[in-house]
Amino acid sequence: MTKNEPAIKSEWENDEVKVIIPYSAAGISNTVVLYSKFTGKMMLLDVGDGSTRDLLDLYGDKIVNEVDVIAISHGHFDHMGGLYTLLGYMRMMGRSLPLNILIPKGCKEVEEIVSFFRSNYRESLPFDLWFHELFDGSGFDTDFFKTRAFEVKHYGLENVTEDDIFMPALGYRIRIGQTIVAYSGDTRYCESLETGVRDADIAIIEATHDELPETSRRVHLCRDEAIKAGSLAKDYILIHGIPGYQ
Ligand SMILES: [Zn+2]
Repeated sequence: MTKNEPAIKSEWENDEVKVIIPYSAAGISNTVVLYSKFTGKMMLLDVGDGSTRDLLDLYGDKIVNEVDVIAISHGHFDHMGGLYTLLGYMRMMGRSLPLNILIPKGCKEVEEIVSFFRSNYRESLPFDLWFHELFDGSGFDTDFFKTRAFEVKHYGLENVTEDDIFMPALGYRIRIGQTIVAYSGDTRYCESLETGVRDADIAIIEATHDELPETSRRVHLCRDEAIKAGSLAKDYILIHGIPGYQ
């Protein structure tokens, strides 16, 4: 495959990193796994419904402690609907290592779940659980994954005004060793998307629409836009199609 061909696939790897997309569909569920081959650690980009089941199929009980950090792109249910189950599973299985969850500043959906776990299971939660609010240009580093956030423009149904305003939404650019992985989250085409994915070794980009929809309220990328952004990186994967329309 050349870098200009539409890249609908679910895996990518080099010497350091394996990227696996166990499931991705708009309005259903999205989860991306970054697996560090040298350390065995994992980073999750979004955790949609079914993510615990899918991760167990791939990695078994390693997910209890080897998931090092989770980055949520925005609060829509198809990107964070599996978080409650994953935290519940980690608690039940006795995770011992701290877990950091990165969210866009103001992402109440995830804040509420994390806060609930911390307050309701104060006595029985066997690991430290934190969320960190990121914004355009801010970052968070663990020993294994160095993450920088870039703001994207995602219009959500939560906006009931006539104004063209966006929900808290981020893309992420992650360094693992010498490898750079970029993730668009959900967004309309914007300059910060181009900056965020440029020259990455692999860009994972949403391509919800086959064709440009006829509306001024742009919520997602269409396929041509996703390919244009992806082509700024060294390689790319398109995700987040509408089920039944691919
Ligand atoms: Zn969304």
